[in-house]
Amino acid sequence: MLPFQNGFFGYRGRIAFVDLGSRAVRVEPADPAFYRDYLGGRGVQALLLYDHLKRNGPVRDPLNPANRIILGNGPVNDTHVATAGRGSCSFIGTMTRSPEPAAWLPAHAPLFGLLTHASAGGVFPNMLKRSGLDHLVIDGRADRPVRILVSEGRVAILDAEDELFEDVGGAKVPKTASAITDILAGLHPGSSTVCLGPAGWNRVAFACLTNDKHRNFGRGGAGAVFGSKNLVAVTAHGRDRAAYFDQARFQALGKELDGQVKAHVGDSKWTASFRPEAGTTWWLDRAFNGGYLGKQGGYLPWHNFDEGSFDPVDFAKVGTKAFLEMSGPPKVCSQCRHIMCTRAAQVDRPPYAGSGVRPEFETIALWINCCIVDRDAVFHINHLCNEFGVDTMTLGSVMAGAMELAEKGCLAGFKDAPAFGSAPDMIRTLKDIAYRSSPLGELLGGYSDRAIAGVAAGRPAADLEGIARCVTTAFGGLGYAGIEPKVFPGMFAAYATSNRGRGDHTYAWTIQAEEGGLQGAEELAAYVAAGQEGKAIVDSLGLCDFFTEDTASDLFLGLYRALTGIEYTADAFKACGRRIYTLERRANNIQGRGRIYDAYIPPKLTEPLTRGAHAGKAVDPARHDAILNAYYRKQGWTRDGMVEPALLRALGIEP
Ligand code: SF4
Repeated sequence: MLPFQNGFFGYRGRIAFVDLGSRAVRVEPADPAFYRDYLGGRGVQALLLYDHLKRNGPVRDPLNPANRIILGNGPVNDTHVATAGRGSCSFIGTMTRSPEPAAWLPAHAPLFGLLTHASAGGVFPNMLKRSGLDHLVIDGRADRPVRILVSEGRVAILDAEDELFEDVGGAKVPKTASAITDILAGLHPGSSTVCLGPAGWNRVAFACLTNDKHRNFGRGGAGAVFGSKNLVAVTAHGRDRAAYFDQARFQALGKELDGQVKAHVGDSKWTASFRPEAGTTWWLDRAFNGGYLGKQGGYLPWHNFDEGSFDPVDFAKVGTKAFLEMSGPPKVCSQCRHIMCTRAAQVDRPPYAGSGVRPEFETIALWINCCIVDRDAVFHINHLCNEFGVDTMTLGSVMAGAMELAEKGCLAGFKDAPAFGSAPDMIRTLKDIAYRSSPLGELLGGYSDRAIAGVAAGRPAADLEGIARCVTTAFGGLGYAGIEPKVFPGMFAAYATSNRGRGDHTYAWTIQAEEGGLQGAEELAAYVAAGQEGKAIVDSLGLCDFFTEDTASDLFLGLYRALTGIEYTADAFKACGRRIYTLERRANNIQGRGRIYDAYIPPKLTEPLTRGAHAGKAVDPARHDAILNAYYRKQGWTRDGMVEPALLRALGIEP
């Protein structure tokens, strides 16, 4: 047994602090109060980042050594609860920034990057727990390329081996994520690795970190933060497991819970029922054709969010059925059972022949938004993103913006600008971004306001608004997800208020509720807030978005007590979600976030759809404003979206 575990059940009770600048490593016992109030994973990491900001002030440049990045897991990780393999990565994001005044947005206020949490599965999160850590906190910047090894409770900073790099156009660049993973697996048999790819090394604002070759801490730019720290990879290895408070009871309740998950996945009335076969690609047909409660589709974005509907013949090439036809056996995260959304996939025909994993709905949808309707190309580009370490979703939004700019003649000064519908153009531009190997790749690899300024440079001042209009990731946007933002006002509010940035869909999801008739501002605001608080709990426990059961049920809370020894009422457990979400928001207030950010509507989203069942719909600024007011009231924030000291005290965040 490693030191510090005594007294902790379900946790390892150890947090490692690494300063890459001084090469100092400190492993400390965790404070049990952290775990009681913030659960683990995302919640505890938000607290560790909030403390960092309080002590040092805002992180004005997320690529500066002052940024902190934390990898970790939660109490349920590495147990037999279905989907208990999701880990946490927290940092100040490199994409969600807008530090300079933006002439195209008179109401602009500086934003330095948002507190971002990314969740990923694979094996790494559970292996980090077995290696003896709940959290690995990384500060500073190394003076040469390094990697971190966590093995059986010991943490070491090692010089990164030359074999992890290759020469690309005269520059020394890390190899692809799968090559790095294979090399480190050879050096440390039985281990698991999370690493950047070339994009992270080149500090692309939407570079991700990759676990086990195809599971990504995707959104916000974790890969760029690793790159800015000269950090190539973290490898974990261990055999030891956390102790249970009452293992026999945990097993009995775990069996009951597992039976419920299995029953719900097998019940066609539950949306979970489609996951084992179609995974998230089920949503392609749903968003295009509809079918839920007799509602119509028409909300699959097309041509940079101009439309939610397009030619059905084109859709058939990239619909759910097309991706089912390429699907192989399940290829799932550690501890995933029953739900199992991911499949292996294969393409046999050139030019995109290869094997890997089936792309997710959001990826496919956002590349359809670039008018790419070549299924095999989507598979191939998804594979390249995994290799280069690029977030597929933000790439989709950045690429759609570039395609529209090119269509309007605004990229005439750049060679090889991408055109809507061209997969070869998208592949070339992706490579240029990941390797920063052309002026356009250099421009598109930065945060979006920087790209707007770069395109506008040397052009008439009157062009500026038109250029910014093409870029839906402007003003620190993370990039909208694959549900057309013009159709669902509640989902637009969820996009607007997600703590990790405008456009994120994972913190609250309203589509079924809105199709079911939910529409008042107060009702939508309450639904969004409840979803965000629930997701904060799921992320903090170490579970997946797709976990089917109620985490505040008597059964789950009984299981949780058997695991950790900590007893909660349903209200006290839910209060942890509100505490975490509020703390994150307060941290984001420090980083410059307020109402101005949440209220921003990219101008093109106020232009109505012209095709399909939702023709005529657009984002209505007055309605968004009303939902935002109701949302702030529900959250107890000020009209400007600020968290005040009294609320921090009431929730136990501050004494
Ligand atoms: S449902 Fe999918 S994403 Fe979630 S844990 Fe299982 S395989 Fe991973």
